[in-house]
Amino acid sequence: MTLTDVIEVLEAAYPPARAESWDAVGLVSGDPAQQVRRVLFAVDPVAAVAEEALDCGADLIVTHHPLYLRGTTSVAATTPKGRLVHTLIKNDIALYTAHTNADVANPGVSDALARAVGLAGDLVPLRPFPDDPWRGLGRVGELPEKTTLGEFARRAADGLPRTSWGIRVAGDLSRPVLRVAVSGGAGDSLLGTAAAAGVDVFLTADLRHHPASEFVESGGPALIDAAHWATEWPWLDSAASILRESGVTVETRVSATVTDAWTRGY
Ligand SMILES: [Zn+2]
Repeated sequence: MTLTDVIEVLEAAYPPARAESWDAVGLVSGDPAQQVRRVLFAVDPVAAVAEEALDCGADLIVTHHPLYLRGTTSVAATTPKGRLVHTLIKNDIALYTAHTNADVANPGVSDALARAVGLAGDLVPLRPFPDDPWRGLGRVGELPEKTTLGEFARRAADGLPRTSWGIRVAGDLSRPVLRVAVSGGAGDSLLGTAAAAGVDVFLTADLRHHPASEFVESGGPALIDAAHWATEWPWLDSAASILRESGVTVETRVSATVTDAWTRGY
């Protein structure tokens, strides 16, 4: 299989045209004609992931987060990103990114997150595209049965990969929970939409004190704040299975390296 063959499958599932205008998705490094035998899926394009690719003999790394989001004038090995580019090119490892186009896809990042924290049945976008109600940011769905916020939080923590931080809850732990909204990654901008969606709890990452405090004070849904990396990690297997089921004969592997920014909690 060539890199072009693999990219074709990824772009059918995650059309680059659906990415936000500020985003940088697609091929970062690599020759479209090069052969791909093994693909490593990871959240972050960082040195530890490049090492993992070297160790497992991957020819392609597919990451959720872009390497360069803003313009750059140098890829010299004098910065961590430049060094990463050198490692990749010297070892014939291609890098490909599906970011906001994977967030809004169906199935996308938040579908995988919803399943990981125990939502069952149909999922609908929290903020659907006006021209496509089945695609968009976040997901809303229901638990198999009504539970409490405390019990759901425990289940969510168990369903997500371990990080130093785990999850944080804002709200009355005995509050009944059935309808849940989730958004992988930083879901700050969806707080108002979640409040209007009539859900019992909104689970996302990177929430800040003031918006979270005001949200809970206003009597809206409870909040669960998980580690950014952990909310997006469940998508990796979903993306890998799209490749496996497409008929392209490549081996897939999901990175087990925890690349969340926070490495220790006290
Ligand atoms: Zn993210």
